[in-house]
Amino acid sequence: MARNSRFPGFYKISVDERRALVCDATGADPKEIERALDGGGIDADTADKFVENVLGTYALPYGVALNVRVDGHDHVVPMVVEEPSVVAAASNAAKMVRLGGGFTSDVDPPHMISQIQLIDVPDVPRAIDAIEARAPEILSRADEAIPGLVARGGGARGIEVRALGDAKTDRMMVVHIIIDCRDAMGANLVNTVAEACAVRLAEIANAKVGLRILTNLCDKRLVRVKCRVPGEALATEDMDGDEVIDGIVNASRFAELDPYRAATHNKGVMNGIDAVVLATGNDWRAVEAGAHAYAARSGQYSPLSIWRRDGKDLVGTLELPLALGTVGGTLRVHPAARLSLRMLNVENAGQLAAIAAAIGLANNLAAVRALATDGIQRGHMAQHARSVALAAGAEGDLVQRVAHMIVEARDITVDAAKRALAVLVGSSDNASAIDD
Ligand code: NAD
Repeated sequence: MARNSRFPGFYKISVDERRALVCDATGADPKEIERALDGGGIDADTADKFVENVLGTYALPYGVALNVRVDGHDHVVPMVVEEPSVVAAASNAAKMVRLGGGFTSDVDPPHMISQIQLIDVPDVPRAIDAIEARAPEILSRADEAIPGLVARGGGARGIEVRALGDAKTDRMMVVHIIIDCRDAMGANLVNTVAEACAVRLAEIANAKVGLRILTNLCDKRLVRVKCRVPGEALATEDMDGDEVIDGIVNASRFAELDPYRAATHNKGVMNGIDAVVLATGNDWRAVEAGAHAYAARSGQYSPLSIWRRDGKDLVGTLELPLALGTVGGTLRVHPAARLSLRMLNVENAGQLAAIAAAIGLANNLAAVRALATDGIQRGHMAQHARSVALAAGAEGDLVQRVAHMIVEARDITVDAAKRALAVLVGSSDNASAIDD
């Protein structure tokens, strides 16, 4: 947690001034921020130890969401994302949510599922009974494979067995071993268990071993976050709070009824979650796979978050599986990931999941509010215009001035930005130099 996460005017001050404020609020060391973020965090030699065939590294912007209060604690939340508006939207929505008391969370224990597929099973119902009867033996075999995790209070917790397809023609089944992964994301631990138990399970079932790997649909590791926003906090120049609540509930119903809208609704949720996942060195492909599989669990792809009116307030809830770690994976080796965890000061992986989900709900609120009021383009384009101004060659103060001119002209293109820049620098010679 942080001493404070409210810094009015943060976006107007310099990068160095922002670093100083964040260090003061979170206890991070300015030297550590410098080491962790300057040059993108890792050099090519370090990158060469992460993956294969390395040529270099690829940096992304690292920002922080402000105003975030989860379960009564303030957090300055690191976000790594290339898309303009995402960090600002999370901070703005978190400020509105704060007026209703902040986010609250409810996080499941960190239970992951190890899948062992068995094939050529001669008698599937008999094999299911036989494996269930030997569950204690399988669970202790699983624990023996992960002694470090067991020593930290984690380990095997249960077994589930299912037939797959038609017992006679498919002759296939799957065994789930539930593993409490404590503060690890858990993929390697769970895969280790699958490999350690597979042969014994096949013996019991008189079958052959198939695949042995975790599932990313980790639906026993759900996180739920909730927020309540007073209507007046949502009001715009043109719409009062009541009208905005109606618009947001309407947006929620649209997503609940239509998978085409639900996909975009959930993209807005994942804008925030992925940015926190990336900043903390976690596996965003795993998170994405789990989130969308969960969104489709009923057979119709659905929104992960729902918005409803409660009197004069808007109430939002978000539920999704989140397998995040505060230990293991690449966390140990990426200095920026370590910095993020230090700034967040979380005690365990569950708290990290609650914060990531809160940011997801904040980004979703910002998107549905914009859609229900001014439309998404107004705010988004103002940010996008700055990227276009940069692409046109603007530097320093000129970036904001060029951006402003092309937004006013409603022509947010690199050509328009080059023309605006030429006007600002005062000569057509300069404009042709920019074209080069
Ligand atoms: P890991 O292999 O680093 O295991 C975690 C280690 O941390 C274990 O040795 C454990 O004993 C130790 N540990 C220390 N303190 C702990 C604590 N408090 N709680 C729990 N463990 C503690 O990492 P992992 O989490 O098993 O696997 C994550 C990695 O696996 C990620 O890099 C991910 O990208 C990758 N992966 C993902 C998939 C997938 O999602 N489909 C598949 C394969 C690999």
